[in-house]
Amino acid sequence: MRGVLDQVHAAVEPMIGAGRVADYIPALSTVDPKRFGMAVATVDGETFGVGDYRQPFSVQSLAKVFAFALTLAVDGDRVWGRLGREASTQPFNSLVQLEQDLGIPRNPFLNAGALVTTDRLLTLTGDAAGALRTFLSTESGNTSVDTDLEVASSELAHVHRNAALAHLVASYGNLDNAVADVLDHYVRQCAIAMSCEDLAAAALFLARGGTGADGAALLDREATKRLNATMLVCGMYGGAGEFAYRVGLPAKSGVGGGIIAVVPNRCVVCVWSPGLDACGNSVAGVAALEAFTSITGWSVF
Ligand code: GLU
Repeated sequence: MRGVLDQVHAAVEPMIGAGRVADYIPALSTVDPKRFGMAVATVDGETFGVGDYRQPFSVQSLAKVFAFALTLAVDGDRVWGRLGREASTQPFNSLVQLEQDLGIPRNPFLNAGALVTTDRLLTLTGDAAGALRTFLSTESGNTSVDTDLEVASSELAHVHRNAALAHLVASYGNLDNAVADVLDHYVRQCAIAMSCEDLAAAALFLARGGTGADGAALLDREATKRLNATMLVCGMYGGAGEFAYRVGLPAKSGVGGGIIAVVPNRCVVCVWSPGLDACGNSVAGVAALEAFTSITGWSVF
């Protein structure tokens, strides 16, 4: 595996630094676009990495997968009544899409869907951001996983669009908690900093049919299958079709430049490089995952 990662790294070297670093959250704009890391955590408990795979970065929308999984784990299928599982052709923060869908976010990985998830998690736990942090620490085995407060306050200072989404959801009666509380927890979830190594380990339950780090069922097989399927269809913003075509794995990306991809029954791969394409996906990250599946032949297809 180490040889595979070296091959992947060499193949994507010319693309590292391509694309645009997200700057609508000012604290993210200062990240060096030349960073690149990739880690593979196998279902047998081995971890391999290359480049900056131990460097923490802002998880941003990667948090949506874990928050949604945690909500399913605590609440079962109930949350599905409040959001859908169809792909969106609109951007991840689209108000138009939410209005068309009458306040029922189209999927859990759009910002509106993640706000509904956070709202439910807040009701269930009383501390959505804290519950997610504990979950990520437990599953990754790294007790120092935490929110980067500078990133959180930077996003909170520019939270207008997410606030508009939350208010629109609330206007349709699909939010139980106060908008300000939901936004605060949502932003603190997105601002969690983790490395590729820790994220790959934390997501391993998705490759293990729902079995968590302690060997107990976090999600049952059916729920895990459905979550992976939703990632395949909706996890890569407007680039989900192109990503499925090039890579062929369920995945989720974040505007911090991270991508988590699941190879069921084998491993989870996490890659990070901050330069984003027009859809908001890491340019070098997508290329690395394409090279990885081409070299290994590991894909769900
Ligand atoms: N915190 C970011 C936002 O709400 C997450 C977006 C993303 O990574 O897609 O805009």
